Amino acid sequence: MKVAKFGGTSLASAEQIKKVCAIIRSDAERRVIVVSAPGKRFKEDIKVTDLLIMYAEKMLSGGNASEIQDAIFQRYIDIAEDLGLSQEIMEQLKADLAEALTIKHGADPSRFLDQAKAAGEDTCAKLVAHYLRNLGVEAHYVNPFEAGLFVTDEAGNAQVLPEAYENLRTLQDRKGIVVFPGFFGYTKEGVLVTFSRGGSDITGSILAAALKADMYENFTDVDSVYVVNPSLVEKPKEISVITYREMRELSYSGFSVFHEEALLPAYQAGIPVCIKNTNNPSAPGTIIVSERESYENRVAGIASDKGFCSIYVSKYLMNREVGFGRKLLQILEEEGLSYEHTPSGIDNISVILRKKDFTEEIQARVVQRIQRELHAEDVVVEQDLALVMIVGEGMRRSVGTSARATSALAKAKVNLEMINQGSSEVSMMFGVKEVDADRAVLALYHEFFAEALV
Ligand code: ASP
Repeated sequence: MKVAKFGGTSLASAEQIKKVCAIIRSDAERRVIVVSAPGKRFKEDIKVTDLLIMYAEKMLSGGNASEIQDAIFQRYIDIAEDLGLSQEIMEQLKADLAEALTIKHGADPSRFLDQAKAAGEDTCAKLVAHYLRNLGVEAHYVNPFEAGLFVTDEAGNAQVLPEAYENLRTLQDRKGIVVFPGFFGYTKEGVLVTFSRGGSDITGSILAAALKADMYENFTDVDSVYVVNPSLVEKPKEISVITYREMRELSYSGFSVFHEEALLPAYQAGIPVCIKNTNNPSAPGTIIVSERESYENRVAGIASDKGFCSIYVSKYLMNREVGFGRKLLQILEEEGLSYEHTPSGIDNISVILRKKDFTEEIQARVVQRIQRELHAEDVVVEQDLALVMIVGEGMRRSVGTSARATSALAKAKVNLEMINQGSSEVSMMFGVKEVDADRAVLALYHEFFAEALV
């Protein structure tokens, strides 16, 4: 059997939902369907999840959110009407949605944001199940609490609990097609908690792992994963097969096709993941597997992500000072910061962080603590960094890949702030200034995929 997850653009309108249902019906193995909330219908449109967040924030700040609420209702009414759902079903959906959008007296208001966000997926799953039934297909909406999708109690950043897998396995005994809302689970006490943004991919992966599916299909709005961001290169080369580790590196550094946390459950259970296009379902898509049959194409993709900064710390004889690294990282830990990379030399170390976490206030405190507590000579924070990665298993074992990459970057006059090719078997990372990032990606694309351009 297959678990198929459909993303927001696949559910943005009745027309899209009809395509989704045709895809579901075209393969009897598609037994478990996971849905996102309706996404954008056109470029300037607002995703339902974003409307729900705006709504919840307005409500929590005591403002008047009725206009936003109307816009949310209208999105679903338009879809339900165009799908020809009965008045009775529409009333029921509206009543459920209204209930989810009400701040319950006595409940913790911080829960309200998650409760409202989840209503996007929840309403959409009910709607799809109704429409499938109208088409004569046996389909049932399943609530994540009832199915035992238990998660940790971290608002907006839930993590699945191990027992959830056992519980979810029983979905295989259900009759007909299961339509499951993505993006949220419940604590064992019954409190609703959402995953991080884009988290319906995570739900799909958890279900595929729990049910030991033959395939986890992830339907989106592109034909495949491309070797480079398609907004930088026109018609880039498509990736047909890629490994979990390669995909993890690519989605870490800017490939937004698949949520980076979503790979883990499928990876651990060894379930192949197929990225496919709802608007072009006959295209083969990209398959993510444990091992590629051919590693001929050593560089699988080129990615980049902006929004980093680095703390450079130097101290003479740092290499001999036992515990220096630990003390440095402990300061970051005490400030609640996670770090991304730590390239180092004998007397210096840089710690790369996401800029958004490193506010001016935290920065001032951290720099002062490193100077005072570690007696560092230099502590320099560098802003506006981007990481550019070339990703490919086995790449490092082939002679000349880094030479080709660095000379391509030199030719494009990209100054390298740092290089890290030591620790990962799967990628080489180049730290560059944000303004140089796109030029660096293009230079690398031309170097490694030039044959795709002729
Ligand atoms: N609707 C949620 C979001 O926009 C989750 C998802 O679509 O995967 O983040």
